[in-house]
Amino acid sequence: MQSTDDLLGSPAFLSWLPGETLFSLVSRHHYFSGHVLSARTCRQFFGHERAGSQHDLPSRLAQFVARTAGCFGSVEQVSKQHTLLAYYATFVSPDETENAIAAMASNSVVHLKFRLGILTSRFRANHPLKACEVCMEEDRARFGWAYWHLDHQFPGVWTCHKHDRLLRESTLKATGVERFQWNLPAQDSFFNWRAETNRAVQSELGALTSLSRLVLDLVSPIDPRKLETGRLHEVYRAELSRRGWLTEGGNLRMPALAASYLDHVRCLRVVPELDALPSTPDDAVTQLGRLLRPPRSGTHPLRHLVLINWLFGSADVFWAAYDQALDPSAIAASGIPNRRLVDQWRQGRTTPTARRSPVGAEDVTAKGRHGGGH
Ligand SMILES: [Zn+2]
Repeated sequence: MQSTDDLLGSPAFLSWLPGETLFSLVSRHHYFSGHVLSARTCRQFFGHERAGSQHDLPSRLAQFVARTAGCFGSVEQVSKQHTLLAYYATFVSPDETENAIAAMASNSVVHLKFRLGILTSRFRANHPLKACEVCMEEDRARFGWAYWHLDHQFPGVWTCHKHDRLLRESTLKATGVERFQWNLPAQDSFFNWRAETNRAVQSELGALTSLSRLVLDLVSPIDPRKLETGRLHEVYRAELSRRGWLTEGGNLRMPALAASYLDHVRCLRVVPELDALPSTPDDAVTQLGRLLRPPRSGTHPLRHLVLINWLFGSADVFWAAYDQALDPSAIAASGIPNRRLVDQWRQGRTTPTARRSPVGAEDVTAKGRHGGGH
């Protein structure tokens, strides 16, 4: 290591900003130190000219922790709280999460996206950088920096939970050209979607907000709850059965299912990231067929999140149904308010878009768009 790249001789480190990604933190250091070359910052923090600069699932975190003397946390803390592992960890086993952390600590994450089900899906493997313009203004006023918020980066999140504004998609890191560069959100580096796409997105803002809220409520780095993805189809089937979408023999009534699902995803496909969702009845049948049977291989979490949004609307309703389907004894012991919430929703007295509504509240009114219940 060259002595000029020894960070421990640096005057000071910047601190984490609320909900900040690792990529954002190192990008701020890059600007703060006035480096011209991204490789220089990369070498300082990761001991390599390029590795470590991935904005989603970076490698060489052991180097990062050693070179910063652990002042930003351990490898586990950094990976789980400041990278997209926060999102994917909800959907994989504890062993797989440990494997992912070990890969990110090491010099290469080459198989990681495959193992997390990202490469086997039809969704784009490169996560777009996203930012809320109102957050950018507020962050500049409060902290002196516009920065990348982790929860804005989650696949499926397209509105800011704080401002209910559509997120902007950055052109940075979107192509191979500047993929090793450090950067922060800036007005002149957002995609200008076509007018037609913009109009469609604005008219479906309610549906996009509902999905964004569900994602944030289900994927919480602060309060992580693991999903047994191997058993999710049981939760789905219990709901389908209740809706009369299973035959007496337990077969799926696919035409009705596919039509309802297609209607739901039509509103979401307006966003380029989500255009891998089905667009034809045949496509819907194929994708639903995979999700509603015991899984054979890794599925992109986004497919589950969209399905959950369609069938249950909100995270509260989903978790109640999840416990009811997979662990009825726990419900009997402690989940009476949850059961009441599910019943209310099924009777159309609550809306799945009511985020974090008081469980069991009697006065939740039915309003807004939701994904089913009929
Ligand atoms: Zn915002």
